[in-house]
Amino acid sequence: MSINSLKKNLPPRFEACKEGNLMVNPYQNAIKQLEKTAFFLKLKPEVLAGLKIPDREIWGEIVVPMDNNKIRKFKTFRVQHNNARGPYKGGIRFHPQVDVNEVKALAIWMTIKCAVADIPFGGGKGGVEVDPKKLSQTELERLSQAYARFLVPAIGPYTDVPAPDVNTNAQIMAWMVDAYASSLKAKSSKLKANEVLATFTGKPVSRGGSLGREEATGRGGVYALQALLEGLNLKLKAKNEKLTVAIQGFGNVGYHFAKLAHRAGFKILAVSDSKGGAYRQENLDPEKVMRHKKKTGSVVAFPGTKKITNQALLKLPVDVLVPAALENQITARNASKIKAKIILELANGPTTPEADKILFQNKIVVVPDVLANAGGVTVSYFEWKQNLAGRRWTLQRVNQDLRKTIAQAATDAWQTSKRYKIDLRTGAWILAIKRIVKQTE
Ligand code: NAD
Repeated sequence: MSINSLKKNLPPRFEACKEGNLMVNPYQNAIKQLEKTAFFLKLKPEVLAGLKIPDREIWGEIVVPMDNNKIRKFKTFRVQHNNARGPYKGGIRFHPQVDVNEVKALAIWMTIKCAVADIPFGGGKGGVEVDPKKLSQTELERLSQAYARFLVPAIGPYTDVPAPDVNTNAQIMAWMVDAYASSLKAKSSKLKANEVLATFTGKPVSRGGSLGREEATGRGGVYALQALLEGLNLKLKAKNEKLTVAIQGFGNVGYHFAKLAHRAGFKILAVSDSKGGAYRQENLDPEKVMRHKKKTGSVVAFPGTKKITNQALLKLPVDVLVPAALENQITARNASKIKAKIILELANGPTTPEADKILFQNKIVVVPDVLANAGGVTVSYFEWKQNLAGRRWTLQRVNQDLRKTIAQAATDAWQTSKRYKIDLRTGAWILAIKRIVKQTE
């Protein structure tokens, strides 16, 4: 196969590869971000080298019995990047195109994110190469339990604390805690019941999860946006005019952001999922769109809307564009066509470094993933604290503390970017790396 046809057939996640360099992948994007930060901070080469390479990469295969009694094997990863500030922390992704480079990038971003939010965790990430939509519920349960057993030697409340990510949810965390607990029992572990619970976050509330965790990433996105708009003088419109928003991805993060932003007075004009998008000039009600998605399997064809592609959604003339799906959606190929004034990155790594340069030249403010979507890990931290203390916080306390944490992170990142006269992403990375390096000195 020629390089050109290889490039043409790349899955959307590898959009950045089409920029001319087949070797570009999310990990290389993360490395470029580290290198740029190191340049501004004049980091010692050995410190930079240490940050580029994860502390540990765990690869494996898990064996899962299928409903038809056949056995299937699945490629499985856990990457532990850096624990200078606390236990490794990061979600578990089930996706057919998960690979180790993606997991490594996601682990680096977690290290940076926890430091931006100033919570005492490091960065990790896990993944299983699987299309969960092709599994039955019982197969998904067995896969989740097999992955938790695979993780047993590597994780724990004070070492590495996994959570949900793309295609994993509270139910899957509950299955994982059960499998983890029974493996520990077989090994006569001394971990107490509350410490076993604290090993996974994003659990159902009935199983030790925190109130407010499910919607925390979307809520944190709203808080970050409000902090930048209100507190930091990023004024786009007259006070009585609603800001318009388009959201790519209508899963856990995209939906909750849409719902809360709608309630907070933003005007949602477009949403999309893997099957396409729905757009209209008037405000959409995300809760009604979700009911339609549950009935039909997609947001497409929501009554009164026009069908648009995911690419077209990115180019809509809205005030705020919110990528909330997967990596590498905004690239050198489409960055110059983006008309939004703010990009709020709720997905991890949706913008490539090449696209970043174009957006900066075009004076588009990118609120980077390590700040915009830090709400999820912040409430995961609250959940971990509640489990270890054997207490439950009220929803009001969770949301108040979340707002405080995110608003402070937004202020710190913004001030750093002003001090160094650079974009907000690099400001956030500088802030984070300074905090990480301080812990290791
Ligand atoms: P999810 O599986 O619940 O939802 C993903 C959504 O994206 C779905 O609606 C899916 O249809 C859609 N999608 C997939 N491919 C698409 C494409 N090419 N174009 C448009 N839409 C597409 O996952 P999630 O938990 O909402 O995570 C979304 C993003 O947010 C990921 O990048 C994830 O790493 C990041 N994130 C999640 C959390 C969390 O708490 N869940 C925290 C921080 C960051």
